[in-house]
Amino acid sequence: MTRVALVSGGTRGIGAAISIALQAAGYRVAANYAGNVERATAFHDKTGIPVFRWDVRDYEACVAGIAQVEALLGPVEVLVNNAGITRDAMFHKTTPDMWNAVIATNLTGLFNMTHPVWPGMRQRNFGRVISISSINGQRGQAGQVNYSAAKAGDLGFTKALAQEGASRNITVNAICPGYIGTEMVMAIPPDVLAEKIIPQIPIGRLGTPEEIARCVVFLASDDSGFITGSTFSANGGQFFA
Ligand code: NDP
Repeated sequence: MTRVALVSGGTRGIGAAISIALQAAGYRVAANYAGNVERATAFHDKTGIPVFRWDVRDYEACVAGIAQVEALLGPVEVLVNNAGITRDAMFHKTTPDMWNAVIATNLTGLFNMTHPVWPGMRQRNFGRVISISSINGQRGQAGQVNYSAAKAGDLGFTKALAQEGASRNITVNAICPGYIGTEMVMAIPPDVLAEKIIPQIPIGRLGTPEEIARCVVFLASDDSGFITGSTFSANGGQFFA
């Protein structure tokens, strides 16, 4: 049986690696994105994976987008909540807009994406919900109060929903990547990266999107059926939760 997987923010960065790894593992994959049409088109041309544009901050857009995915591929059995943004500043410089954008995308986005697929998962007695949180949700990070709060919220979401899904064979897990070499991290000034961030990583390098994608493939598989409500740390030894 070929399962259907939907990856939010699945057209570039970690999300693109997840979409590609799930496709290689035999899933029928759909990748959502926010607005970077050029990148999404290039991703689709390279992989053949269908791409769908909608904003995870908008509940109705998620309902409509997921209906389109399901019309094309069938019911979503594996949902990967990966879409995320940063709006970094020290707390005293964080504006309400910066706060709201990050909470809406990185936390409310999980509700908006998971709620529409949840009844189908319950009905079919199978589901996998895998959310990409962050090391900074586990430990907090100065300059990222909004992001740390949202990503910590993702962990609470995961632990609570796991309890609701367990009796129906739906597992709900989170992955907390450390610093991964995507555009989000490459936007950090190179001197800060080389002098401040990499020296804090015991393994001595950034992680790769593919390393996170392999965790997702495992959590999506039948082999991971006894794992729910858990937090996978993948951070090069930088933090032990
Ligand atoms: P990127 O910035 O490279 O990619 C983000 C993806 O999310 C894009 O596909 C983007 O779409 C999509 N997206 C953003 N906002 C929305 C939205 N409102 N609706 C739908 N899609 C949206 O991010 P990364 O690959 O670096 O990060 C992926 C996830 O991993 C995030 O949740 C991030 O917080 C988390 N993470 C990343 C780490 C890292 O080191 N990179 C470390 C820890 C966690 P579009 O292309 O259209 O803009």
